[in-house]
Amino acid sequence: MNASGLSSDQIKLQARVRELAAGPVARRAAEVDRTEQYPWDNVELLKDARLLGMTIPQQYGGQGKNWLDAVLVIEALSSACSVTGRIAVETNMGAISAVMAYGSDEQKKLAADMVLSGDKPAICITEPEAGSDANGMTTRADKKGNRYVVNGRKHWITGGGVSRLHLIFAKVYDEKGNEEGIGGFLAIRDETAGLKITKREPTMGLRGIPEAVIDFEDMELPPSALVMPPRGLKKGFADLMNAYNSQRVGAATVALGIAEGAYELALDWSEKRHQFGRPINEFQGLQWKLADMSIKLRAAQALVYDAARSGEGGFPDMLLAAQAKVFTSENAIQVVNDALQFFGARGYSRELPLERMARDVRMFTIGGGTAEVLRNVVAGALLKKKLPQTRDGWGKS
Ligand SMILES: Cc1cc2nc3c(=O)[nH]c(=O)nc-3n(C[C@H](O)[C@H](O)[C@H](O)COP(=O)(O)OP(=O)(O)OC[C@H]3O[C@@H](n4cnc5c(N)ncnc54)[C@H](O)[C@@H]3O)c2cc1C
Repeated sequence: MNASGLSSDQIKLQARVRELAAGPVARRAAEVDRTEQYPWDNVELLKDARLLGMTIPQQYGGQGKNWLDAVLVIEALSSACSVTGRIAVETNMGAISAVMAYGSDEQKKLAADMVLSGDKPAICITEPEAGSDANGMTTRADKKGNRYVVNGRKHWITGGGVSRLHLIFAKVYDEKGNEEGIGGFLAIRDETAGLKITKREPTMGLRGIPEAVIDFEDMELPPSALVMPPRGLKKGFADLMNAYNSQRVGAATVALGIAEGAYELALDWSEKRHQFGRPINEFQGLQWKLADMSIKLRAAQALVYDAARSGEGGFPDMLLAAQAKVFTSENAIQVVNDALQFFGARGYSRELPLERMARDVRMFTIGGGTAEVLRNVVAGALLKKKLPQTRDGWGKS
């Protein structure tokens, strides 16, 4: 898909990444899925192509690129390999952007150096008993003298076991046991004692990137590990979550890219495949399906680009990011499903990428805020109300 309104630099960037995606990235995609191995070789490719940490400010070694630049990269990569697309999300958005916005100089240097050398940071929010209701988390960080002691369990942490830098959210308690709010702490796997990867989830799709259970057992951290937004700990969680709007746009972009890849395959096959003595795209039923698919993709792309553009100089707008993620994730599932149908039995085979794409794309109405919870976000923003079904609605802070 081509969208207007891109600068000449962005068009060049898009063309460069499309070439990379269609070449080495596409060639590895099936193997990454089959072996369930993290594609370290693709990380090297992204590093050499300067696509990791593009959004990191220049003073910390990055290129200070904007969200739309990152979106163009993620979209192109995801059309060939969604796992590689997700690596581009998490090295340009989410945890890294939270640290870049709110971290101390020392934290920014640490995170930037790690990402630019190939680490995909992990963001640890979700717990077995606290999913959509993140405020219900029970992981705790107790202040004891000049350190915090963290205990608890997170699950479905993307990159658990391959990521080194972790941004971990926990309820913070002072020396007397009073709750101070939710804070985000930086810890490094294999360096911070007490951070243990205890299980890898057997996932439906996106199998080249691990989803893990992580246990924190008396994990000790210095106060300098706490990422402290300017509004302090009480309100700071909301600020840190604001950084997550970039990750949401990134997640929507992966879904968009996968669906675009599937659509292109279907379009091409519809000319090649003949039945009843003619290409199958001469049947009106399939022509209308192609038309609907292209309309959905065009609309999704416009929402995603718009949300990305809204973050100029800060983070993407919460409403636009939520609208983009709900629409794109749901429509991408439909587009991929329709594309698979074009191939008949072949679409159901593991020899073609369609079944992998169908498994991969299914995630995006769930991870990073479900479609239902994001509809709450949209409705709350439209009505300018704290809705009863959201975390603020029952009088919780
Ligand atoms: C592949 C993958 C990667 C992930 N990566 C990460 C990660 O890196 N870090 C991390 O912290 N988490 C991660 N997650 C977790 C993800 O963010 C959560 O799964 C998500 O927030 C939903 O939480 P839950 O699974 O506990 O579902 P629940 O919150 O238990 O929801 C169950 C169902 O109830 C619905 N529901 C819940 N509350 C409401 C409401 N108020 N109104 C209407 N419907 C509601 C939900 O939409 C859902 O359909 C990942 C998940 C997946 C699948």
